[in-house]
Amino acid sequence: MKASERLIARLREIGLDLPEGSRLVRVHPSRAMRNEGAWSWSAYGPGGRELLIGSQYPMAELLAAERLDTMQVVSGAVGSDTEVFPAKACQRCGRLASTACRICRVPFCATCFSDHHHEGYGTPASDS
Ligand SMILES: [Zn+2]
Ligand SMILES: [Zn+2]
Repeated sequence: MKASERLIARLREIGLDLPEGSRLVRVHPSRAMRNEGAWSWSAYGPGGRELLIGSQYPMAELLAAERLDTMQVVSGAVGSDTEVFPAKACQRCGRLASTACRICRVPFCATCFSDHHHEGYGTPASDS
């Protein structure tokens, strides 16, 4: 199975609406258009209809991620695009992580992180 087909399967798993016959197309922005946040690929439905789903992360990187998450990117009058990005799971409870420990770099959700301390570092700094 091609990388793009595997990614389509993953995107359907997280609830994105990709009809049968959808394709993920690599975007090759021209040099002038290349900027921070430019998409690496975007999704097209049957007949070439734009599905307004894409990501600045390369397909391979998303496939390697343990979990995927999405966020809405509002783009003016056109409406909103759905951007896919790699999400990390909380190491303790397995739910979606919202933060990572600055000391051990382990991802945690907010609930578990409030309970995560390192010997000798005291409680998470409150001076920042
Ligand atoms: Zn947790
Ligand atoms: Zn830690």
